[in-house]
Amino acid sequence: METRKVIIIGTGPAGLTAAIYAARADLKPLILEGHEPGGQLTLTTEVENFPGFEHGVMGPELMGTMKKQAARFGAEFLQVMCTDVDLSKRPFTVKTSTGQSYAADTVIVSTGASAKWLGLPNEKELTGRGVSTCATCDGFFYRDKVVHVVGGGDTAMEDATFITKFAKKVYVIHRKDSLRASKPMQERAFKNPKIEFLWDSVVTEIKSNDSGVCGIVVENLKTGAKENRDTDGLFYAIGHTPNTSFLKGQLHLDEHGFIRTHSGPETNVPGVFACGDVQDSYYRQAITAAGSGCQAAIKAERYLEGH
Ligand code: NDP
Repeated sequence: METRKVIIIGTGPAGLTAAIYAARADLKPLILEGHEPGGQLTLTTEVENFPGFEHGVMGPELMGTMKKQAARFGAEFLQVMCTDVDLSKRPFTVKTSTGQSYAADTVIVSTGASAKWLGLPNEKELTGRGVSTCATCDGFFYRDKVVHVVGGGDTAMEDATFITKFAKKVYVIHRKDSLRASKPMQERAFKNPKIEFLWDSVVTEIKSNDSGVCGIVVENLKTGAKENRDTDGLFYAIGHTPNTSFLKGQLHLDEHGFIRTHSGPETNVPGVFACGDVQDSYYRQAITAAGSGCQAAIKAERYLEGH
């Protein structure tokens, strides 16, 4: 089995940026694309906050261009999932969904985190047309509109507060009668006159017309009453699941399953680096993911030079 200098697992902005840097450093990286090549940006429409695009860029187009850029420098892509790794001995072993094994001197994990969804039948097809899992990305499109945000954690409070910069009214729908969010975040939301709370409530249906989401049905869990509500947008803020199950305990993870990193992208195993949302539950932006992908590739290059 040939030993690769670098294997990159995952192809969101973090993995693809790592691929560009590693390929330009002549490390001939092998990239395992995963089940959602391009990552979460391929689920969005227009990205307006990625620097360098004055008039915005479509998420899938941005990721497609990054991939071509990496390929131009010699990055090799495989359309497979990583199912297993052995990071306990060197070279490291990476196994794929097609049953093949690859050996590597360094591994960069950039498998991202997947937003949690409610599981309503039409939610995925309405993504980008009223349903969103990213307030920072999409809040701007709801100027003077009415928006509902689902969730009771810090993200829901932060998203609701952020969206009030644009929307005329934001309703937070939470399934309990008290929030999980930290006290300061709760208080900021309570004080905001544009935010109103719908307690003990869940969304049971999303209504749409030709231009996208136009309403939702909200059920009160205590009374069982169902209410039709008009809305222009429905934001999910019910948490993210980091894609780390394939690591099977081989890297240190935090209590939510995100990879613990230090000194930038370093993990507890020398030669294994992590970048992007798989190690970042705070910023979760394409540009921060890309930046950390660059760091991971540079650290991998220096590690290889030193060994
Ligand atoms: P959390 O897991 O903390 O909260 C998720 C929320 O969504 C909970 O209120 C939960 O309800 C609700 N929820 C989960 N699943 C469903 C469902 N199927 N239907 C309806 N509601 C649901 O996730 P966050 O993304 O809010 O936060 C993740 C981490 O990031 C936390 O540690 C948080 O502190 C941190 N963070 C910090 C920020 C900051 O400091 N500025 C900003 C954002 C996040 P329930 O309460 O009933 O379980």
